Amino acid sequence: MQVPLLVDDFLRRSSLLYPDKLAVVDGEHRYSYSDFHARVNQLSHALLELGLEKGDRVCILSPNSHFFLESFYATSQVGLILVPLNYRLVAADHEYILNHAGVKAVLVDWEYTAVVDEIRDRLETVEHWIEARDGGPTAEGWSSWNELIAGAPTETPPAPQVDENDLVSINYTSGTTARPKGVMLTHRNCYVNAYGLIAHLGVRHEDVELWTLPMFHCNGWGGVYALTGMGGTHVVLRAIDGEEIFELIEREGVTFACMAPAVLRTILDYPHKDRHTISQAPRFTVAGAPPPAAFIQRLEEELGWNFMQIYGLTETAPLLTVSKPDHATPKDDWARRSRAGVPALGVEIEIRDPDGHPVPRDGETSGEICARSNVVFSGYWEQPDQTDAAIRDGWFHTGDLGVWDSVGNVHIVDRKKDVIISGGENISSPEIEDALYQHPAVLECAVIGVPHEKWGETPIALVVLRSGATPSAEELIDFCRERLAHFKCPTRIDFVEELPRTATGKLQKFRLRESFWEEGRKVN
Ligand code: AMP
Repeated sequence: MQVPLLVDDFLRRSSLLYPDKLAVVDGEHRYSYSDFHARVNQLSHALLELGLEKGDRVCILSPNSHFFLESFYATSQVGLILVPLNYRLVAADHEYILNHAGVKAVLVDWEYTAVVDEIRDRLETVEHWIEARDGGPTAEGWSSWNELIAGAPTETPPAPQVDENDLVSINYTSGTTARPKGVMLTHRNCYVNAYGLIAHLGVRHEDVELWTLPMFHCNGWGGVYALTGMGGTHVVLRAIDGEEIFELIEREGVTFACMAPAVLRTILDYPHKDRHTISQAPRFTVAGAPPPAAFIQRLEEELGWNFMQIYGLTETAPLLTVSKPDHATPKDDWARRSRAGVPALGVEIEIRDPDGHPVPRDGETSGEICARSNVVFSGYWEQPDQTDAAIRDGWFHTGDLGVWDSVGNVHIVDRKKDVIISGGENISSPEIEDALYQHPAVLECAVIGVPHEKWGETPIALVVLRSGATPSAEELIDFCRERLAHFKCPTRIDFVEELPRTATGKLQKFRLRESFWEEGRKVN
């Protein structure tokens, strides 16, 4: 008989096999697998006591915390659907999402209850307000999470019949130009993705994972499930801070972490690395945006840490391709390791031209990356038109441009919307950014296409300099000319104080472009 693939199996298995093993470290809290499971079960009981039923939506708005980890399993094991909110959004965004998803109960970290209070009167479906806080008085109008679960049974409550195609979560994507869309992920999507991570990133029982990645983002890429399933240890990091990262790696013996490229920079720039003794080189997985090749080279050469790159989307739970050194990808091929990857097990990739035909595997013809797999989401919550636009003839269209190389790697060129077309040539903005990141004065950069009378578009770079650095724009352009074909080089460099990013470290290039396109500024 076949059994459904349900993510709550991961915690059940580890708490049975390793009840005394350390499951979660969050500040002064250290929970064993049996403590973790008990708190999860108590929360499930409390949510059912409130009258919540299978299919109801429960939101969590919180930085990384043990509460956040608990919410994953407390909801899924009783058929509730988790809606993780991005805590960097403003109150109006929360209002839209909570109403759109019809959320019944909100689980909110103590630092964020005030934001929710701002919109409380306009939340149409929320009936229960639960504050996640260890110690201190509960905010007015809120119930305390810890009080709610105190006294609740620690055994798993009887669950309603849950099928692997039932939803685990609805993850709202950042929504760059339009309203955020609710990505519906099923048990099956998340289960299969967890298997992919275990297989390709080598997630294992001995792993101690540092949570630098926000848990709200695409369910923490499924790391909650993969690591719990193997009985590893979650080390929670609430906010990105170089010193704390190094301290935790040293103290807890961290072996593994996933992160957006921006966190790599924090690690590389941390000035007191020599104060820490790191006995075991950790594995670092980076995704969410193109990681600069210069960063990964430094991470490996200066620190001796091991870099892996994965590519995927919230809509694919997320793992689509993975890149690690192997027989076809030498360790020092930084360009390939940062931009390319092979399809993960169980993932079919096609790269299609604008007419929908597969492009040749010739190392140069680009097209849209399309995927077919058990990790592909089941649609956008209450947006069937958007679902139909994204999943066509069984293939999910990612909106990213890629190229096949001769050894079966997908090279990620750019997001379709960010690719620059100058004089009929496609220019990949990450390729130019990679060149700029090799310059020691460049702290951050973004390359965008802006209108040009002769070429249609031309690449320009917005650069944040390291403090004290004073290169001229010409120097940086010349630096690019030594490394890139002439037509790819930025024709102008603007120095800026900062670059707009989403909470997960993605550059919001549309915001940068806006000022050039909307004000009708021309760069000649
Ligand atoms: P999200 O759903 O918010 O995770 O965003 C997914 C998008 O992030 C993809 O469509 C890509 O444009 C980008 N992305 C994710 N991983 C990578 C990667 N390894 N390299 C380049 N871009 C990436």
